[in-house]
Amino acid sequence: MGGKTVLLYLMTTAIAVSVALTAAVWLEPGSPGQFEATTFAPKEAPPLTSTFINLVPKNPIEAMASGNMLQVIVFALLFGIAIAMTGERAKPVSQLFVAVNEVIMRLVTILMHLAPIGVFALIGKLTINTGLDAFANLGRYFALVLILLLVHGILIYGTMVRMLGGVSPWMFFKKMRPVHLFALSTASSSATLPVTMEVATRRLGIKSTTASFTLPLGATINMDGTAIMQGVATVFIAQIYGADLHMSQYLMIILTATLASVGAAGVPGVGLITLAMVLQQVNLPTEGIGIILGIDRILDMVRTAVNVTGDAAVTLLVARSEGDFDEQVFSDPDAGHQFETLPET
Ligand code: ASP
Repeated sequence: MGGKTVLLYLMTTAIAVSVALTAAVWLEPGSPGQFEATTFAPKEAPPLTSTFINLVPKNPIEAMASGNMLQVIVFALLFGIAIAMTGERAKPVSQLFVAVNEVIMRLVTILMHLAPIGVFALIGKLTINTGLDAFANLGRYFALVLILLLVHGILIYGTMVRMLGGVSPWMFFKKMRPVHLFALSTASSSATLPVTMEVATRRLGIKSTTASFTLPLGATINMDGTAIMQGVATVFIAQIYGADLHMSQYLMIILTATLASVGAAGVPGVGLITLAMVLQQVNLPTEGIGIILGIDRILDMVRTAVNVTGDAAVTLLVARSEGDFDEQVFSDPDAGHQFETLPET
């Protein structure tokens, strides 16, 4: 069950980011070279084969020092698996990492207080250089991410639920409504998890033996909406800085965005933090994030709703294949209906 779930989560994320990259290259949301070339000098892209060979770091410390994010993520994943396999004796190490993570998140929160000033300066500079074109560019970026999120959330998951799960996508989306509302208002997959669990077990007819494994896993490792934003944002930033991306760099973006979504926690705004890793991996300037920061909250709300829909859709497919799915409960429009009133009581 674990293998199936992880594979489905990773595959859907990789598809999401690939579609986002293709759409962004094709529709060009960012006018080329809005930032003068002197601000940024693109580096030579490595050949495709070495992208795969270089996934595993020879020296993890060097990878961290030189900002090779793909290697850092691969090392972190292997290190985490080893900690989990060691069990009780590795507890102090895992506690140390949990604590360091909390400290870093606090540091990011402190720095985020300065963000409005930085965003103001960046957008100001952009507007001076390009006039109101800057806003038209941002508008195009916003619209493209939003449309891709809706297409992925409705069409792709709807088709998956229909073709692979053999159930009505309408009923699925109807029953997912409380989850969507909660995800939209909190912008956090982790905060939405209890609601996703309730809906999956009481309304969608998924047995808790499957749901209690796949949903918490999905809330941390499955972020298709986030990957879509990162795909479009990377191409958008490359366009406004006048940088050409090569095939091997697109592949690196897919790999980094997919792996970064495994490592990111389901909390508000985390997609922008891991976007820094993706940009760094393909030698794009991370300050480009400042340009899209101002309009990110609304996109964060929508991509969180997409992320949790993906968790529930994959859970449904896995439950079906494991015989942990009760179609009668799924088809009953009133099943678990009293749940609607729970938050008020
Ligand atoms: N807020 C998103 C989530 O919790 C993550 C992100 O894209 O920032 O799923």
